[in-house]
Amino acid sequence: MKKKSLVLLLALAMIFTFALSACGGGGSSEESSDAGEETAVLKVVTEATFAPFESTEDGDDTIIGFDPDMMAAIAEDQGLELEWVNMEFDSLIPALQSDQGDIICAGMNKLAGDRAEKVDFGDTYFESDLMLLVTSDSDLTGIDAVTSDMKLASQIGTTGGDMVQEMQDEGKIAAGVVLNQWTDCYLQLQNGDVQGVIVDKPVGEAYLNAHSDIAKFVGDSFGDHEEFAFAVQKGNTELLDKLNAGLAELKENGTYEELVAKWFS
Ligand code: GLN
Repeated sequence: MKKKSLVLLLALAMIFTFALSACGGGGSSEESSDAGEETAVLKVVTEATFAPFESTEDGDDTIIGFDPDMMAAIAEDQGLELEWVNMEFDSLIPALQSDQGDIICAGMNKLAGDRAEKVDFGDTYFESDLMLLVTSDSDLTGIDAVTSDMKLASQIGTTGGDMVQEMQDEGKIAAGVVLNQWTDCYLQLQNGDVQGVIVDKPVGEAYLNAHSDIAKFVGDSFGDHEEFAFAVQKGNTELLDKLNAGLAELKENGTYEELVAKWFS
C-alpha cells in the first residue's frame, strides 16, 4: 500500500511541476534560458529620432546613441538582459502602463507634467533645456520674437510639443505643429512649412553639427530646466534600484564620462 501512495505522490509532484513551468511568468519580459538559468529579457522602449540619445541609421533598425550605450553598460554591471523597442514618444508611458515594456529610456524629462504619477523615474542621467531652431536666413532673434502669424513645430507628447500647443492656444502663434518624429520637424522647417522648431538643446546641437549651413539656434534657452531619467513600471522598485545602482557605478568608474565624450563632443 505504502509503495502505491509514494508512486502517486511522485506522479502528482511531477504533474504540478510541469504545470507550473508551462504557465510561465507575467509581464512584458520574455524568458531567456542559458544553461538552465532563467534571465528575463527586459524591454526598453524609446523613440529613436532623438540623436545623439537614440537614432537609427538609414536602412538599419539598430538603435544607436548615448542611451543604448549607457543602458548596455548598466545592464552588464547589474546582470540584466535588454531588448530595445522603437515607438512613438507619446506611446512610451502607455507601453509601461499596459505591461508592453519594462523600461523607458528616451531622453524623457522626469519633471514634466504628470509623468511621475504614471511611471517611476530613476536618477537623473542628463540635464537639458529647450531651444528655438530656425533656418539660417531667419530674422527671428528668439522665442519671444515669434509672431502670431507663424507656425512652430515640435514632437508630439514632448515638452516642446506641449509648448507649441500652449503657444497656439494662447494665440502667440498661428499653429503649433506636433509631429511623430524629430526628422519630420526638421523637414518642415527646411520646407518653409514652419518658421521654427522647439527642440532639446543637445539634440538641436547634434542636428546643427550636420546642418549648420541651413539652420541655427536663436536666443537663449527657455521653458523648464529638464532632467532626463529612465523609468520603470509604477512600483517596480527592485528594477529601479538596479538601474540606479548601475548608473552610479558608471559615474564612479568613468564609463559615464567616456560615453558623454563619445556622443556629445
Ligand atoms: N526631453 C523632451 C521630453 O521629455 C523630449 C524627449 C524626446 O523627444 N525624446 O518631453
